Amino acid sequence: MLLTTRLKGRLATACGQYLPQLVLLVLLANLADVDFLIGLGTETNVNALHRGFTHSLAAAVFVALAVSCVWRIAAGFWRSAILYFTAYGSHLLIDLCTGTQIGWTKSGSGVPLLWPWPKNFSSPLILIFGVRHQSSSALFSIANVWSCTYELLTFGAMTVVALIFWTRILKSQTNRPVP
Ligand SMILES: [Zn+2]
Repeated sequence: MLLTTRLKGRLATACGQYLPQLVLLVLLANLADVDFLIGLGTETNVNALHRGFTHSLAAAVFVALAVSCVWRIAAGFWRSAILYFTAYGSHLLIDLCTGTQIGWTKSGSGVPLLWPWPKNFSSPLILIFGVRHQSSSALFSIANVWSCTYELLTFGAMTVVALIFWTRILKSQTNRPVP
């Protein structure tokens, strides 16, 4: 949305126009980890309920439908719901590929993707280091600084490449002569 508007006008205008939608999608992409707060509020242990039902497809569908009832950022209920599901589901996908060792290591801790079935699923291919959050000293450890730097560099590079390709596609569409 931002890029399409960017081609027509200034980026600042585009950001202002779509900021609420972007904020909502970012919030949805992080919503699954709200179980940290539930754990802290009910169990006095921040990890007590972590990677429970909020990390499931059922939660993703429920949140997507519920938010789409309240606010539609695309044309129609189902288009908005699909966008919300994609944002929420991106978190599940990343957690599926998170583990202690990068590569084909099967070191993921897994998520209950098909909750209420209690089986934990994880990808054998690990692409992301898990953030350590057992204690405050683990949270602010050098290992976590490294994890964050790794994520920033790899996902930053992927985003830049995707944006370059997308911009080229949009430009070639707008420059195409009208028959
Ligand atoms: Zn998570």
